[in-house]
Amino acid sequence: MDELARCAAEARACRLCEAELPLGPRPVLRVSPTARLLIIGQAPGTRVHASGIPWDDASGERLRAWMGVESDTFYDESRIAILPMGLCYPGVLPKGGDRPPMKICAPIWHPRLLPLMPAIKLTLVIGTYAQARLLGPGPMTAHVANFRAFLPALLPLPHPSWRTIGWQARNPWFDADLLPELRARVARTLG
Ligand code: SF4
Repeated sequence: MDELARCAAEARACRLCEAELPLGPRPVLRVSPTARLLIIGQAPGTRVHASGIPWDDASGERLRAWMGVESDTFYDESRIAILPMGLCYPGVLPKGGDRPPMKICAPIWHPRLLPLMPAIKLTLVIGTYAQARLLGPGPMTAHVANFRAFLPALLPLPHPSWRTIGWQARNPWFDADLLPELRARVARTLG
């Protein structure tokens, strides 16, 4: 087993937050030493927790449409790695909606796994939690509107949930400017 496979196996066996996770630990990640594109999102929802397949939901369908890729490409681990800010489903907030990713997760696993994926050329930085870690403080809309400043290595995106439909309508530059750039860069990165 190579170092990345060993580290991924350790991550999949992680139980550090067991006492705080309502459905228990089930780390969901996809990593490969040959992957050229990396997706860093938020944390699994209940459906992904059940299936163990990242972005296996309506948000994933929207993300694939934004990227211009089909499922077989999206789930080709040798080309696309997926490493969320929290690897396990965190539960729900009292007022509704999922809790934030577990705070300790990314600081533990990202620095161990990311250096073992030297082929990554483009990272999609999805949602406020990933953007706070990789891009620094600031509102999501400002990060995404300023996407050219982070290229060619990083490309910020909103979380592609149903809540983003209204945001997309209010920010027409996203469809007009960012999505064509995203699709072109994804295609070029994946070869
Ligand atoms: S959320 Fe991260 S740190 Fe917590 S149990 Fe899951 S893999 Fe481990």
